[in-house]
Amino acid sequence: MSDTRHTKVLIIGSGPAGYTAGVYASRAMLEPILVQGIEPGGQLTTTTEVENYPGFTEVQGPDLMIKMQEHAQAMGCEIIGDIITSLDTTQRPFVAKGDSGKTYTADAVILATGARAKWLGLESEDKFKGFGVSACATCDGFFYRGQEIVVIGGGNTAVEEALFLTNFASKVTLVHRRDELRAEKILQDRLMKNEKIETLWFHELEEVYGSDSPLGVEGIKVKHTTTGEIRDIPAKGVFVAIGHAPASELVADVLETHNGGYIKVTPGTTETSIPGIFAAGDLTDHKYRQAVTSAGMGCMAALDAERFLATQE
Ligand SMILES: Cc1cc2nc3c(=O)[nH]c(=O)nc-3n(C[C@H](O)[C@H](O)[C@H](O)COP(=O)(O)OP(=O)(O)OC[C@H]3O[C@@H](n4cnc5c(N)ncnc54)[C@H](O)[C@@H]3O)c2cc1C
Repeated sequence: MSDTRHTKVLIIGSGPAGYTAGVYASRAMLEPILVQGIEPGGQLTTTTEVENYPGFTEVQGPDLMIKMQEHAQAMGCEIIGDIITSLDTTQRPFVAKGDSGKTYTADAVILATGARAKWLGLESEDKFKGFGVSACATCDGFFYRGQEIVVIGGGNTAVEEALFLTNFASKVTLVHRRDELRAEKILQDRLMKNEKIETLWFHELEEVYGSDSPLGVEGIKVKHTTTGEIRDIPAKGVFVAIGHAPASELVADVLETHNGGYIKVTPGTTETSIPGIFAAGDLTDHKYRQAVTSAGMGCMAALDAERFLATQE
């Protein structure tokens, strides 16, 4: 097989945005190629139950992503296991290089490379990820109804997550390593007024502990940043809320970005600052970061790409 493949639409990324774009672009007879990247299926493959994707009362994240892949394939999307290492947007067709040595040329490109939650990097944090440790209150807060929860962080995300989690939790402890928050003042006011939230200043997460069988969190150990004193906080859920990083490295130098590297699109569309390049999902979205919103944007990107290609003919 040739080392260069041409396609009308190249989809980069295999999360909900990428696969949905694959379904729509295939049904528009655009014969798309989708390159999966290092994490086939995207972020949802790192979680367990998903209870908020319409049509599924409860589904395991990896199972949902296999269904999405099968759906895109069944519609005719070609799915390739490769990682795009560079994208040249200065020439038409656009030229993407794969880690495999393959070159992909494309009349339109849909970027759906997602985002990553930032983690602290503790071994125990990793052990309980998806089993009591989360980075998404919207996704997982519901699992902790009537229980004690801790939130780690001091920025807008942490305060928003803490406030949201009071809808479910009996108590939320916000652990922050300084004595003041970086969050906007209005959020800080809401936090201080909320009787369910206790803020623990000058502490950082030392360890998450819990049971091995079944795997589940029972609490955390936090360390005072100046005295080094260790303190124990019982909790069933630990939300690490220290920010997200969009996977925009491929195009951060050539496309307009905002809010810390998220790809900027014309509101109400998936059009980026370069005609013919579209962006969908968490890569463009610092606000909602959900599977269903990403899938919605994947649909929009395929429809936008189809209309763009029609104007080029
Ligand atoms: C632990 C966890 C639990 C979650 N739970 C829920 C939930 O219950 N409900 C919900 O709605 N949302 C949940 N989310 C959020 C949801 O997973 C994301 O909003 C969604 O996956 C974003 O989809 P996406 O398609 O934009 O990108 P992602 O899912 O982030 O996928 C990005 C894709 O891009 C690929 N990629 C990256 N770089 C390259 C490259 N250079 N070349 C080729 N491919 C590349 C990756 O391999 C990956 O396939 C959760 C997230 C996490 C981390």
